[in-house]
Amino acid sequence: MSQTFEDLSRSLGVRCADIGLDCNRVIFGMNEKEVMYETIIHMCEYHAIDQEEMTTCMRLKIRKNIHMYRDSVIGDR
Ligand SMILES: [Zn+2]
Repeated sequence: MSQTFEDLSRSLGVRCADIGLDCNRVIFGMNEKEVMYETIIHMCEYHAIDQEEMTTCMRLKIRKNIHMYRDSVIGDR
């Protein structure tokens, strides 16, 4: 097998708009945990949402919207 585990899992991401924000950024990570982490940082930096303001509901929403993306399928089908 030529594909490494890391390559595969790099394609996990969440679209900011899916969380309910007016933003078309997609945040990628190696795994769910990393996507969550990166998203929280993004929300803090770009949307001025503090970690303390992040509700459990919001975290669930992020987790629910984490999808597999392959470089070629971002966008419409
Ligand atoms: Zn955003």
